[in-house]
Amino acid sequence: MHTFHAVNPATERPLSGEFPEHGAKEVDLAAMAASEVAKAFRQTTPAQRSSLLHAIADALESARDTIVARAELESALPNARLNGELSRTTAQLRLFADVAVGGLWQEAIFDSANPDRQPLPKPDIRRHNIALGPVAVFGASNFPLAFSTAGGDTASALAAGCPVIVKGHPAHPGTSEIVAQCIAKALEQEQLPQAIFTLLQGTSHELGQAVVTHPSIKAVGFTGSIHGGRALFDLAQQRPEPIPFFGELGASNPVFILPQRMDNQAESLAEEYLMSMNMGCGQFCTKPAVVFITQGDASERFLQAMREGIKAQTGQTMLTSGIKSNYLTQSQRRAQQSGLTQTQSSPESGVPSILFETTSEIWRNNPQWQEEIFGPQSIVVVCQESEEMISLSQSLAGSLTATIHADADDYPLAKRLLPELEEVAGRIVFNGWPTGVEVSYAMVHGGPYPASTMPASTSVGAEAIKRWLRPVAYQSVPDALLPCSLQQDNPLNVRCSVDGK
Ligand code: NAP
Repeated sequence: MHTFHAVNPATERPLSGEFPEHGAKEVDLAAMAASEVAKAFRQTTPAQRSSLLHAIADALESARDTIVARAELESALPNARLNGELSRTTAQLRLFADVAVGGLWQEAIFDSANPDRQPLPKPDIRRHNIALGPVAVFGASNFPLAFSTAGGDTASALAAGCPVIVKGHPAHPGTSEIVAQCIAKALEQEQLPQAIFTLLQGTSHELGQAVVTHPSIKAVGFTGSIHGGRALFDLAQQRPEPIPFFGELGASNPVFILPQRMDNQAESLAEEYLMSMNMGCGQFCTKPAVVFITQGDASERFLQAMREGIKAQTGQTMLTSGIKSNYLTQSQRRAQQSGLTQTQSSPESGVPSILFETTSEIWRNNPQWQEEIFGPQSIVVVCQESEEMISLSQSLAGSLTATIHADADDYPLAKRLLPELEEVAGRIVFNGWPTGVEVSYAMVHGGPYPASTMPASTSVGAEAIKRWLRPVAYQSVPDALLPCSLQQDNPLNVRCSVDGK
């Protein structure tokens, strides 16, 4: 079998370790094996799946130092960030352990029978959600832990009762392998079949394509580029049996700073914006890529602080040489377009941070500037008056987030802006910055395309489990034959709705 190496993005040298180049044959073996265990895994109790998720979290915690050390070499992300990301990963696993036993995901609904109804008797109908079957998860380059092998997609799918096949991101194969070993150990400890989880590795597009098109795969979770995600989404829809493809593809995360807020906070807003756009070298899907402000003295102070802040930035290393070259090419191309001024840092190493500035009129004529450039760059759009923000908000593409900065005097405008931003974004942030996504029960990390290929779903938070489920109704099925969650005496104590209440 062919093998490949990981590359250290800081030195651009190969790292130790050889990883297999899996292909269609390995996809077939993994998917068939997953399919064979899928029914039994779906029928495990929520408590068993909860125990598995805790066991995975414990195994990752035991291997923390090894995982973080390898991820540091493979991603060039700082140690503190990776330690935080590992904690987030184990917290996600434990959240989904609670979600599994909580039972709300089953959405149990009962319609009582009415044998006396005229002209026809009404049957007893009960419905709940069941696991879809084997799902594929694509590891993301920018979160080697929290959105990769044992990340949120894997945790939510296992909680639902779906076997998982991960297509590891080729930027961090060593990290993926150590994490996969932790999952294998947890499966063994819980006396569950190893086929419930498989990691496939490789550098060819054929591998991802074979995963998405395999007939045993029933859904896909993906985080990455619009280009790659769209190609895989199209493949998923062209299959003889089309399947749901939950792709999180990119966002501009617009921010609106209203005039009173700007007057009161210009310098601190600039400081926060600078931090948010540069965090993780701008390699976050929630980076604020466009900020709308109105012209005036305070805005000039804000811009001046931004320009000085950008110039003082030190260079950071990007995740891969491919991402770096995309960033440099795309930002150079943008810099050559007329109507933009730019300020950039001149780092001794790493890539420069770039701030573009333009006016609302020029922005309107250049819709291509909404396209994501992955890295530490952002555009400020200066409006002549605040009223213009409403019309600009109506021409925005779908986004993961939209943000309003407003003080009390700005509320009338904020109130009009809010319904416009609901049209555009999955999450609305008030007086904050979009980078950083809380993993909780109410979180929505999704939104209209291209933020997500499935705008009715979220890829972060407890509701993410619903991506891997489908409803089944049981009509007149005797109680003794029904799944536990739908039996009359409710042995699992599942919350349910009865006759609409
Ligand atoms: P990517 O190119 O979309 O790759 C993500 C995964 O999809 C990889 O496993 C890749 O495998 C696979 N893939 C991509 N195109 C494919 C195709 N046509 N057929 C089959 N598999 C395919 O993302 P990336 O490598 O992480 O980074 C590249 C760019 O993606 C960045 O510059 C950035 O613009 C964007 N990105 C966005 C986000 C976000 O959260 N919005 C996150 C990460 C990256 P291969 O190794 O075979 O390519």
